[in-house]
Amino acid sequence: MDTNDCPYELPADPSTVNVVKKSPHILIVGIDGVRYDSLLSTPTRAMDRVAATGFLLPVRVHQRNATISGPVWATVATGVYADRHMVTGNSHHPAELDALPDFTEVLRSAHPELQTMIAASWYPLATPTHCGPIFSSRGWVPTPDPEETNDAASWVCADDAVADYAANRLENEDLAASFVYFGEADVEAHNHGTGSGYVAAIQRCDARLGTLLDAIQARPDRAEEDWTVVVVTDHGHLDAGGHGGESDAERTAWIAAGGASLPRRVSAVDHADIFAQVLATFGVNTADSEGVPFGGRQKARQDPRLDTPLGRRQAAGRR
Ligand SMILES: [Zn+2]
Repeated sequence: MDTNDCPYELPADPSTVNVVKKSPHILIVGIDGVRYDSLLSTPTRAMDRVAATGFLLPVRVHQRNATISGPVWATVATGVYADRHMVTGNSHHPAELDALPDFTEVLRSAHPELQTMIAASWYPLATPTHCGPIFSSRGWVPTPDPEETNDAASWVCADDAVADYAANRLENEDLAASFVYFGEADVEAHNHGTGSGYVAAIQRCDARLGTLLDAIQARPDRAEEDWTVVVVTDHGHLDAGGHGGESDAERTAWIAAGGASLPRRVSAVDHADIFAQVLATFGVNTADSEGVPFGGRQKARQDPRLDTPLGRRQAAGRR
């Protein structure tokens, strides 16, 4: 055969082809209680940086979860809903949760050489208090606990401390999977409703996200790494502040994600999918979770059998 007929230039030695797969890393950032419509109407440069290489989609809080922090963050951590993790509010830590390792623990079990991080200003996410630890791995929390005084200044300080702590570790360590959480926007809505103070709180959370993104970009081996960043809220808020009920304002959450290795077309996502996406990033099987990796869900869930009054029964939760 005359090789001149071949339009492609093939390397003589296959070993010269760069087939090295970039090492995967994933960061999940939880921002509590940010309404989807408030997010869309607020300038958020860091969020835009994430969504520019992926998506920002509304997420209907699953009917098996109340529109309360504990149940939804437990779904993010474990990939199952309240009928299995049994976190139905923010106070009680159910025994069932102890049998459900969070995604960083599942990852380390499969790949013991990998390092992970949890950092959160809401103590139950990372410590054994109230319904916690929601993340079985536990993690870093700022002191003092901002929920003790529960005013704006305490939460601003606590969220800033989380951002500083997480950014430093993201830049200087090799963290394969991380969860970082900011809570001040939710508290602002509870205390003062969803007005200008709420918008300002969302913007400060966005700036903290920017700090984390900058830390990743500053990594010395960034070019050899494949980073996925996922940003997620757990529930919305009523105009006057408050959630736990069934209104669209409360039940509409959102997920944004960005990264070179994400599927090109993602039209629907669920809170349980984050667990599946993290583990799929590292090739770990998640057959027992209720979620699917991003791109595996082609339209919004519409199953009337799942429409239970659980949320209304559990509406007493504060966060
Ligand atoms: Zn919440």
